[in-house]
Amino acid sequence: MLGTEAAFSVSGRGSILARMAAEPVDLLIVGGGIVGAGIARDAALRGLRTALVERADFGSATSSLSSRMIHGGLRYLEHGEFRLVREASRERGVLLAIAPHLVRALPFLFPVYEGARVPAWKLRAGMWVYDALAGFRNTRLHRWLGRKDVARLEPRLRSKGLRGAGLYYDAQTDDARLVLATIRSAARAGALVANYAEVTSFLKSDGRVRGAAVRDMLSGRRHDLHALVVVNATGPWVDIMRRHDDPEAPLLLRTTKGAHVIVPRARIGHAHGVTLTSPLDGRVMFVLPWGDDLSYIGTTDTDDDSPPAEVRASGADVIYLLRSANALFPDARLAPRDVISSWAGLRPLLAPEHSLSPAEVSREHRVVTSPSELITIAGGKLTTYRVMARDVVDAVAERLHAIDGREVADRPPTDRLPLPGGETADLAVLIDAARGRQATDAEARHLVDYYGSESAAVLNLVERDRSLGEPIIAGRPEIWAEVVHAVEREMAVRLADLLVRRLHLFYEDPDHGLGAAPAVAARMAELLGWDEERRESEVTAYAEEVQRARAFLREVPRASKAVGP
Ligand SMILES: Cc1cc2nc3c(=O)[nH]c(=O)nc-3n(C[C@H](O)[C@H](O)[C@H](O)COP(=O)(O)OP(=O)(O)OC[C@H]3O[C@@H](n4cnc5c(N)ncnc54)[C@H](O)[C@@H]3O)c2cc1C
Repeated sequence: MLGTEAAFSVSGRGSILARMAAEPVDLLIVGGGIVGAGIARDAALRGLRTALVERADFGSATSSLSSRMIHGGLRYLEHGEFRLVREASRERGVLLAIAPHLVRALPFLFPVYEGARVPAWKLRAGMWVYDALAGFRNTRLHRWLGRKDVARLEPRLRSKGLRGAGLYYDAQTDDARLVLATIRSAARAGALVANYAEVTSFLKSDGRVRGAAVRDMLSGRRHDLHALVVVNATGPWVDIMRRHDDPEAPLLLRTTKGAHVIVPRARIGHAHGVTLTSPLDGRVMFVLPWGDDLSYIGTTDTDDDSPPAEVRASGADVIYLLRSANALFPDARLAPRDVISSWAGLRPLLAPEHSLSPAEVSREHRVVTSPSELITIAGGKLTTYRVMARDVVDAVAERLHAIDGREVADRPPTDRLPLPGGETADLAVLIDAARGRQATDAEARHLVDYYGSESAAVLNLVERDRSLGEPIIAGRPEIWAEVVHAVEREMAVRLADLLVRRLHLFYEDPDHGLGAAPAVAARMAELLGWDEERRESEVTAYAEEVQRARAFLREVPRASKAVGP
């Protein structure tokens, strides 16, 4: 058995793939987004021999491109989705408890204006129902605020035509790190997990899917992995995978694109999460705080059947988001050039039976078993991933019982076991402890936000080598020890894994971390034994990724001009 850290380090990755190929497992999961990660955790905790392969980095697709909300989904009440809202509200409570460092309660203000599509009476009734569906156990109960109170709380919000606002509570997460924490928890429970390992075809025996051919994307080597049950948890790719199995398989998904932009918080000047109905088309969208200085605006919702890996925010998306935010915060006067970064993903939604607008398509999930016994999970949300995972592993356990008569194991308490780093809910204590170990205020808060109680492990690296306590970029809180931590304990294989999903410099640094990229690549080269050519190619590939995320600037006519409503 690999040790805990080796089971999730780059150095352990090669032997993990070799082990997957050497020993048949009970369950092979294809896809390392939040859903695959949740399935691996649940299955490994039930004692199943579990393997998971991900074609790129863990969480690199939809699960790190979300609106980062862990929410009941107030707007789903408009479509009568009470069951989904009740379930998601419960999950919000669970995730706040098992990952307190990664999932934080956030107050939201929903202002209502004269003639708004959602009138005040409807919102007030909706907020009661929202609290009721959470069993009145949400962080706090909602309140209705009059104009003056709204002006006091959010003075830069447009006052003309304002009727009042609802103040209600949801939660926000670091989606990419939530995936990592979940997948590390799975590895700790014994799951074998590997990134940059792509399923290219299924292995069949008597017409039944009993494994997969996997290509190691780093070495190019092929491995045949054998499993009693295979689960397809590939998010927006689920139909592509189903058609690998059966070219006639009916399509399950209707994918819709959602884009976001990050801008400096000072330009908008808000303190709360703000829920708004866009004056352009009446859709519900959000302006959300991020860290101390940033805000993001999202999201769009448009049908899109592009290849999932090629989706990005377009010029039109960016203009729509900025115009909607500028209408609500008239002093912001945001222009495309103010955008620090952008991201876009494809929602893997269940195809509805009737024609609906993208925003009306349900966020429910479905587990489908094909005639060849491939189990597919489709639909759902980040918020409900734990329930989705449980439903899948219930189906897997039944199949295993049918195959070899084994007992069906009890469901593990995934709602109570903390995710790695989430063992301590009192974050102030952790921040104090980090400060006591020479971290600055900003570094201590950053380390606890990212690693929770494992911030101590990051600081242990600094104790061994003082230079690792230096900031990666002067004036920012990320320190060099995190690079070592990401490679040795978080399976960061490529430069982008580190700068995009482990450290978020891609999104948060105005330069996207490009200035630091060569030095970070040099440190990774030392840790991973890269030669000169690999080091350079990583920096080039990263710069290209940054270019893609900024491509929208070429599609807007006057990027420096504030976009009016
Ligand atoms: C714009 C947007 C905003 C959203 N906002 C929210 C929100 O605020 N709150 C919320 O609860 N939900 C939100 N969601 C929904 C949520 O993000 C998704 O439901 C969830 O992340 C889907 O996770 P997944 O694991 O199914 O898919 P993914 O994260 O896409 O994971 C699937 C993985 O499968 C891998 N894969 C594909 N093919 C192969 C192969 N052949 N071999 C190996 N691996 C393969 C992919 O690389 C990918 O990493 C949002 C979604 C979008 C797009």
